[in-house]
Amino acid sequence: MDNHLCHSRPFRHPCYNNLAVRILIVEDEPKVASFIRRALEEESYAVDVCPDGIQGRDLASEVDYDLIILDLMLPGLPGIDVLKAVRDAKVATPILILTARSRVDQRVKGLDAGADDYLTKPFAIEELIARARALLRRAGGDTASILQIDDLILNPISHEVTRGEQRIDLTSKEYALLEYMMRNEGRVLTRPMIAEHVWDLDFDTFTNVIDVYINYLRNKIDRGHDRGLIHTVRGSGYTLKLTDG
Ligand code: CA
Repeated sequence: MDNHLCHSRPFRHPCYNNLAVRILIVEDEPKVASFIRRALEEESYAVDVCPDGIQGRDLASEVDYDLIILDLMLPGLPGIDVLKAVRDAKVATPILILTARSRVDQRVKGLDAGADDYLTKPFAIEELIARARALLRRAGGDTASILQIDDLILNPISHEVTRGEQRIDLTSKEYALLEYMMRNEGRVLTRPMIAEHVWDLDFDTFTNVIDVYINYLRNKIDRGHDRGLIHTVRGSGYTLKLTDG
């Protein structure tokens, strides 16, 4: 493959000068790549597409992207090796990996190798956009603002949590879990995602602990309130949101 294929792409196309956010898609399937590209461009992000692992690795290391969307099955170099190389090069850009639904081992490896999030194929484009937005927001360092969902308020500086008039005392893990859920309001968080973000541990042996902690949180956050905020998503995980009615 022509070594300059990706590099000939206009990273700094004049049209993109005003766009602050630049995203790299490393995906060899043209249909999938252009589908994602179009959706991201509609969100006013600047997007580069690269169909090859080696070139993707080089681009990710050389160009200052805000987000990288990385397929794992790639020609040239497997996505997992791209990921490792990029992290070895001390590039901290958030990376969202795309994996086949059946490959749990890939997802684990990906997260272990420094991916920030993953999405299984086939995926809904709305979900990809939402996850991209969340990763960009987190990377943007906006971690100091007060979080509020309904009458639940969390102060990331003081770690103070209140619901309505009531102050809620949480252990540090309960707090970390709640903050993670509030920062991902409305998104279904799987147990592996929660394990990775909140416990930073291998999740296989860990799912029970997550369920236990979700129950602790429920008791402290939702008990005695008309509107429950923590919801179980059957077969998937948990989400924190205000539901209608
Ligand atoms: Ca592929």
